[in-house]
Amino acid sequence: RSKRRGRGQVTVYSREIAQEMKRSTQLEQALRNAIMSDAVDVHFQPIVRIRDGSTVGFEALARWIDPDLGFVSPAVFVPLAEERGFIDALSETLLRKAAEAALSWPRELFLSFNLSSAQLMDPGTAPTILATLSRVGLDPGRVELEITETAVMTSADTAERIICELRNAGMRISLDDFGTGQSSLGRLRDFTFDKVKIDRAFVSRITTDRASEHIVKAIIAMCDGLDLQVVAEGIEEKADAEKLRALGCSMGQGYFYGRPVDAAATLDYLAHHYRESFNLKRETA
Ligand code: C2E
Ligand code: MG
Ligand code: MG
Ligand code: MG
Repeated sequence: RSKRRGRGQVTVYSREIAQEMKRSTQLEQALRNAIMSDAVDVHFQPIVRIRDGSTVGFEALARWIDPDLGFVSPAVFVPLAEERGFIDALSETLLRKAAEAALSWPRELFLSFNLSSAQLMDPGTAPTILATLSRVGLDPGRVELEITETAVMTSADTAERIICELRNAGMRISLDDFGTGQSSLGRLRDFTFDKVKIDRAFVSRITTDRASEHIVKAIIAMCDGLDLQVVAEGIEEKADAEKLRALGCSMGQGYFYGRPVDAAATLDYLAHHYRESFNLKRETA
């Protein structure tokens, strides 16, 4: 009896696996086409100074809507591109588009761009990034690169060289999603980062969960001591922002301040928000 059931399960599983494989092959093919036809877009989300809500930069976030598959999250297609070996092509296109958009922003605003873990294992990454920025004409000094702890861990020596090369060219490095995954405080000692982004898993519960509040408080204190800038991710409520401000967190990002929007809408956002806060700042200065 158990044998028969076992066999039945095997059939079901293999059919599921076959379907899954078919789906991921479809996804892969669709993504390849999207990259080739330049259909993967990039959106921008403001990063602000919590004190006065003024914009300091934007994070570029990949966006892809397939005609058949609909919206596909970058949390799905970025890892797929990594796994199938075309993250370089994808990332180069995205950086080019993001950098081109950033050329229209006020010069003091930075562009923050996510690097994937595969890119931190590839010695060609830094030269490629620099070549793209130079072709577009965007000063590397206006660019920050966001990397995750997992990425740094998997290939520490290569990652360290790449980070060093990029910083020497004037770029800044942010440690993204801090506090989740393979967190190790040693990473902050062994590598040179400029900024830490506190994962929204802590930020979203900061007003309701004492433990999250204490963790965020400790991260901010540690970053102050290490001369690292801090950004809180995933601020959705005014109360989150107020709490973070009270805790001394200088920068924030989240739906409360602005959702990721395309390049044109980013210019509208700047027209409405940026000059206002800029003038305000000058008046009170
Ligand atoms: P991430 O770099 O940590 O980006 C932040 C994510 O949080 C984004 O999700 C953003 O839309 C979302 N987010 C921002 N504010 C809020 C908020 O207030 N509430 C909530 N619930 N979410 C918020 P998204 O755009 O889906 O991107 C997911 C991840 O995909 C990114 O996480 C990043 O790891 C990766 N990714 C996105 N674009 C790129 C890219 O161009 N290159 C690479 N390598 N990875 C990318
Ligand atoms: Mg990021
Ligand atoms: Mg993040
Ligand atoms: Mg994340």
